[in-house]
Amino acid sequence: MSKHLKFFIDGAWVDPVEPALLDVIDPSTEEPFTTISIGSRADVDRAVAAAKAAFATFSVTDRAERLALLERILAVYNERFEDIAQAVSREMGAPLAFARDSQAWAGRAHLEATISAFKNFEFSEQRGTTRIVKEPIGVCALITPWNWPLNQIVCKVAPAIAAGCTVVLKPSEIAGFLDRRAGVVNPLALVHELARLATEAGAGLVVKDGVASLRKVGAGWEVTTASGRSIRARKVLVATNAYSGALVPKLAESLVWLHSFQIATEPVPAELDFILPGGQAVSDSRRIVVYYRRSPDGRLVLGGRGPMREPRSTEDWAHLERALHRLFPMLASLRIDHRWFGRVAMTPDHLPHLHEPEPGLVMVAGCQGRGIGLMTALGAPLSRYLADGDPGVLPLPITPLRRIPLHRFRRLGVAAHIAWYRLLDGLER
Ligand SMILES: Cc1cc2nc3c(=O)[nH]c(=O)nc-3n(C[C@H](O)[C@H](O)[C@H](O)COP(=O)(O)OP(=O)(O)OC[C@H]3O[C@@H](n4cnc5c(N)ncnc54)[C@H](O)[C@@H]3O)c2cc1C
Repeated sequence: MSKHLKFFIDGAWVDPVEPALLDVIDPSTEEPFTTISIGSRADVDRAVAAAKAAFATFSVTDRAERLALLERILAVYNERFEDIAQAVSREMGAPLAFARDSQAWAGRAHLEATISAFKNFEFSEQRGTTRIVKEPIGVCALITPWNWPLNQIVCKVAPAIAAGCTVVLKPSEIAGFLDRRAGVVNPLALVHELARLATEAGAGLVVKDGVASLRKVGAGWEVTTASGRSIRARKVLVATNAYSGALVPKLAESLVWLHSFQIATEPVPAELDFILPGGQAVSDSRRIVVYYRRSPDGRLVLGGRGPMREPRSTEDWAHLERALHRLFPMLASLRIDHRWFGRVAMTPDHLPHLHEPEPGLVMVAGCQGRGIGLMTALGAPLSRYLADGDPGVLPLPITPLRRIPLHRFRRLGVAAHIAWYRLLDGLER
């Protein structure tokens, strides 16, 4: 396997100050195909110092010298065109034709365009009584995204050179991925539609009258609501999830519940419709995740963890507003029209749990805040199990209902964990 372990600093290929290796995986084979070095703070310092020193002389070069440098880079680029296309293809999994005709081509096209614009570029112009002079600004720190490496490198490096600046260039260590299978649902509309279908199929629905007690009667169960209505059934499914109370002993203590908070802006103005134009739902990859999407009426809806206690004022959503403004500064002036929250249930093994502590008393809980699809999908096999009693139809095993040891303190522990993770996320920003 090849190795590319040196950095190009101060006109020479040099070893990293602190060696640290990374295998580069070819996405088409999922096999490593080369090893590179990961830069450290010391390597960056070294590159910045070299670029700073070079700036003193490079910034006073004239147009002809910079043009000669850019033309030399273009000549070498053209000589190595196929190598560049092959490297892009293997690094990012682009098909070869695309790597040649779009990726490597874009680097060449931008170099040619920069050279052509630079030949007659006016660095100094008179506007009325004002003289505007464009001067090299200093060392440029350039970071390129993963998806159009050459396009972005050349669009940054070539104008910087033309302007007389020296550069420190690195690829982004962060990348995103787009899963085109993903979609969004409106949870309230989903619940309404499920209720409509259930009613159509003959189910009786009772709302605003919680179950107050659950009692074993003969071979079945008696469910009594807060208003005193009762119903008897051979089998009962308890799906109270993070809102589980004292109805079933041990269920609430087998889970830790957290709060998810969300905000929605006023509708985003039409000129900002480039934000999530495909209606994508986004989730970041931090320890404490922030997620966002556009609502059908054009709002930006953003959510994340909230305090463990119930909110007291709009201040309890302020961290989400800050996240929104950091991600989309252009939305900072938008009004926040809606703020809301709810509970989600976590289990120690991060999996949903099915229990049947007594025959005919089935329960499902704990989807780690990802229950919209998961719990809906579990509905069908659970109803088949209730009807036929065949555990083979269940996608998860039925496990004993176990209290989490020191449950009361567990919530404090989770709160401390969230605060710690938030701090780490903040330090890495
Ligand atoms: C702000 C927020 C954002 C979220 N975002 C996502 C997301 O993007 N994707 C995703 O998949 N999930 C998300 N979730 C999580 C998702 O909402 C839950 O995982 C899902 O609702 C769990 O479904 P469930 O039916 O198990 O429980 P729940 O929807 O919590 O329903 C439990 C119900 O039991 C009722 N109940 C409790 N006790 C009684 C009683 N004694 N008698 C009668 N009824 C009772 C409660 O009132 C409640 O209506 C989010 C949650 C919140 C709060």
